[in-house]
Amino acid sequence: MFKAILIDKQNDAQQVRLAEVNEAELPEGDVTVRVAYSTLNYKDALAITGKSPIVRSYPMVPGIDFSGTVEQSSHPDYKPGDAVVLNGWGVGEKHWGGLAELASVKGDWLVPLQAPITLRQAMGIGTAGYTAMLCVMALERHGVTPDQGDILVTGAAGGVGSVAVAILAKLGYSVAAVTGRPQEAEYLRALGASQVLERAEFAEKGKPLAKERWAGAVDVAGGQVLANVLAGIKYRGTVAACGLAAGMGLPATVAPFILRGVTLAGVDSVMCPKSDRLEAWRRLAADLDLGKLGDVVHDLALDAVIPAAGRLIDGQVRGRVVVPIGAG
Ligand code: NAP
Repeated sequence: MFKAILIDKQNDAQQVRLAEVNEAELPEGDVTVRVAYSTLNYKDALAITGKSPIVRSYPMVPGIDFSGTVEQSSHPDYKPGDAVVLNGWGVGEKHWGGLAELASVKGDWLVPLQAPITLRQAMGIGTAGYTAMLCVMALERHGVTPDQGDILVTGAAGGVGSVAVAILAKLGYSVAAVTGRPQEAEYLRALGASQVLERAEFAEKGKPLAKERWAGAVDVAGGQVLANVLAGIKYRGTVAACGLAAGMGLPATVAPFILRGVTLAGVDSVMCPKSDRLEAWRRLAADLDLGKLGDVVHDLALDAVIPAAGRLIDGQVRGRVVVPIGAG
């Protein structure tokens, strides 16, 4: 038997509990992992509270991220004792996820833990940090270099934004951090931002083309914020767009694309191919100052996850939540 958060549905009503589950009930997979750490992401909180249709089949174990040690494997790349990380692939949505002592998954979904990142740090980074790295890689692939000018990061005090600020600053970019929480300005400067801008500056409808200010941007906001970001991108600059914190819409014009050759590069972490995942984790090991994670991450016990999910949705949880499970 092993402990797991279990989401079930009966007569259209969702129930969630910390359950003892028989190992025979684990889903099919060629690698069984003893989970050391998982996380509580916004998506997990939506699944646990049932506030959004994240869960595609019941019963479901939530948890879109986990790190741990291989217990059994018939996959050629993994053997018992290997330290591994999983992000996305629909785990915690349509395949049992990481908020459990054991997980059974496809070996192709796993990536090896990259030294010097520890199992706990890997979950401090989580999908948010790995997505931030994918965004930085998208800027690089479109030729954005530090000498071209400032890079804008929206939602900078959030999970994706804060890791993006830290990575870009370490790579030598000058970073302008946009936040709706001016009280986080010091924190953002400590992460490496050279300017901190008010979110309100980007929230109202602006012109299709504004002054060329940014060589590139990492945008977690979407909506009007992304439209205004695009309008202020320099000639041939790139925006890596990964989120919808300000909305799903994009009330923009094609002017930045056809008059300034601006690129809008979409970033998806869930189904991202393995080669890019491996590159992102290798780059996180090299280009993220792991010391900076300490201020962002705090622990939450597995038996405290269910009540915390509602608080996270209400915006009452700060930073990244790591859930130690079999960490020893
Ligand atoms: P998070 O920790 O909740 O941070 C989101 C940040 O967005 C907030 O901290 C806030 O930053 C900012 N924000 C909130 N409401 C806003 C608004 N109305 N206008 C502008 N900014 C607003 O979430 P996260 O983990 O960083 O994720 C950020 C976004 O990326 C989410 O939309 C998430 O769904 C998406 N995401 C996508 C992928 C992918 O694969 N594409 C992966 C991970 C996350 P400030 O407090 O600094 O203002």
